[in-house]
Amino acid sequence: MLENYGFPGGLMIGTDSHTPNAGGLGMAAIGVGGADAVDVMAGIPWELKAPKVIGVKLTGKLSGWASPKDVILKVAHILTVKGGTGAIVEYFGPGLDSVAATGMATIANMGAEIGATCSTFPYNARMAEYLRATERAGLASAADSFKEHLQPDAGAPYDSLIEINLSELEPMVNGPMTPDLGNPISKLGANAKAAGWPLPVSAGLIGSCTNSSYEDLARSASLVQQALDAGYKFPVPFNVTPGSEKVRATIARDGIAAVFEKAGATVLANACGPCIGQWNRSDVPAGTPNTIVTSYNRNFAKRNDGNAGTHAFVTSPELATALAIAGRLDFNPLTDTLPLPNGKSLKFAPPKGKELPTKGFESGEDTFQAPPADGSKQSVAVAPTSQRLQLLAPFDKWSGKDFSGLPVLIKAKGKCTTDHISMAGPWLKFRGHLENISNNMLIGAENADTGAINAVKSQLDGSVGKVPDVARSYKAAGKSWVVIGDENYGEGSSREHAALEPRYLGGRAIVVKSFARIHETNLKKQGMLPLTFVNAADYDNVTGADAVDILGLTSFAPGKNLTMRVHKAGGKGSVDIPVAHTFNEEQIMWFKAGSALNFMKANMK
Ligand code: SF4
Repeated sequence: MLENYGFPGGLMIGTDSHTPNAGGLGMAAIGVGGADAVDVMAGIPWELKAPKVIGVKLTGKLSGWASPKDVILKVAHILTVKGGTGAIVEYFGPGLDSVAATGMATIANMGAEIGATCSTFPYNARMAEYLRATERAGLASAADSFKEHLQPDAGAPYDSLIEINLSELEPMVNGPMTPDLGNPISKLGANAKAAGWPLPVSAGLIGSCTNSSYEDLARSASLVQQALDAGYKFPVPFNVTPGSEKVRATIARDGIAAVFEKAGATVLANACGPCIGQWNRSDVPAGTPNTIVTSYNRNFAKRNDGNAGTHAFVTSPELATALAIAGRLDFNPLTDTLPLPNGKSLKFAPPKGKELPTKGFESGEDTFQAPPADGSKQSVAVAPTSQRLQLLAPFDKWSGKDFSGLPVLIKAKGKCTTDHISMAGPWLKFRGHLENISNNMLIGAENADTGAINAVKSQLDGSVGKVPDVARSYKAAGKSWVVIGDENYGEGSSREHAALEPRYLGGRAIVVKSFARIHETNLKKQGMLPLTFVNAADYDNVTGADAVDILGLTSFAPGKNLTMRVHKAGGKGSVDIPVAHTFNEEQIMWFKAGSALNFMKANMK
């Protein structure tokens, strides 16, 4: 995104976390679900309730160990994972001059973790340098010619304002299990001991679309070189994921990859890799508590290696590297000296590395395959026996009646990210096969009634089964169902399978205390009803053993609440609970048509 598509002052809609990266070039680059992106490509306007604007004023100067990642880790700690919901975060102030465009991209990338619509920056000389280095000097000149319009208005008001002095910014290590639990490096050891987090670091992972710029990897390699000079290598597995082919080819040419490899690290393909769970980890048995340090943007349970015992911490690539070299979480590379097995000791000098390669970027391998000039005669042939690909069939239309007698499939407790709803890792191979990937639906969610994971009681026969299996049994019995959820339901990846799967297996409504923005829209697109408790305390008035009616659908209208009638288990009466929604007129048409795709198709005829 940053290398090819971003430009100052533009607006971009795209999928997943690499899209917000383009904020680093002064765009409003907004991450959306796949269905939203497809709609935009089909010429359908993308809608968003006018966002608030959170201002982040940066003063001082980044230097030494402090990095752009620490800015967003600090902001995430202040705002929490839902603090940016419904808001654009606008960074400004003199401190920005000490942040490279790729650093701003890191900050913008991880803005998704606080729920922000997007994060953006005023156009500055650092962006122009990056545009020139990536062969887009024309764009830099064009932006220079009207740069006064690419700045915040003087005295612009913000809905809220955060100030960070970069000269005083302490490197952060956020986690475990959530990216907003901030630990300044000087307190990390004490916090870990107090909380009982495993102190030995079992693996380090750097890169991903969040933190894989030339500068990130060069600075990290400078630390690795210090260890090599002291006759020391990584004591634990260390994986480096270049974020693009350009970066992969350039770090290979400039010997940066070789420094990592000499110290025992593995340079992986330039893909998501372990950031999305593509990590066939065999060194730590499943369930074993252990600590990993990464420079990724998310650290929810099981996200990287599928192990619920893994305590993942997100930090800068530099700190991830130093902590992996030390092999301990209670090592502070800013102050501590590391005794080495060879009798020497290592006191790290602060990391350093060039922002941009002196010899320019290598373009790497060109793997682009152009589509045929005339696509109208193309057909899509999928083998019916394929386990990886399956053609989608349209979802059924709304019957025109209120829903009644829908069993609660699961009442989920606590954090329920899209990784909990549709796990990645080994499941990704089924992304093109809705029937097969639906076997992972909600297998990571905690059952609020029992505390169990992937175990719910069927209201058909009282047996306890896996969540997708019980959902399938309801579907086979012709029963639709609902899910009850907690706060910020569906945070994390934009993963639309987290909406497709419940719809496919017979879900009708997801009723929660609050939603993450993208997931809420994804559910609407698939013809589901994302609803929120008007009174959050009503979450306690429903259990996984109850059944519900959704009333008011025959007069479904924007801004008008619906009612969820909860029929208590065992015939113990019913209670009416008001539930709110954010559907607009067109989105209500999606619901009525069965999905946004159905609606679009009907309107194309
Ligand atoms: S999985 Fe990781 S590397 Fe891939 S797009 Fe998402 S955040 Fe970026």
